[in-house]
Amino acid sequence: MSRRGSCPCGHEKFGYRLEGGVRNKLVVGSTHRLVRPPAWAVQKEVYDHHAHEIKLLRFSDVETGVIYTVSRQKFEMLRLVLERGYGVQYALPLEHWREERPGVRQLEFAL
Ligand SMILES: [Zn+2]
Repeated sequence: MSRRGSCPCGHEKFGYRLEGGVRNKLVVGSTHRLVRPPAWAVQKEVYDHHAHEIKLLRFSDVETGVIYTVSRQKFEMLRLVLERGYGVQYALPLEHWREERPGVRQLEFAL
């Protein structure tokens, strides 16, 4: 049983949102993106708490408008476990994410 509005894992505090099986986190690219290696990271405690209900992970880079998506299977197969002073995190290098760039669809359609 879980109460509406507060979750024991504290995912709201970290800025995560769960949407119908899709984990969604709004981030600012320059501050929440790992530089070495270039990756998006999720708090381990939050991920483990919700792993059974996640199908997709999605990160929105609010600086560039690019949306990064990856399946739970791929994330769990390729993730790294890191500790960089913010607690333990799972990180997946950028090359493994599917990128949706704003405007690209129109451009492809025009060609
Ligand atoms: Zn939670």
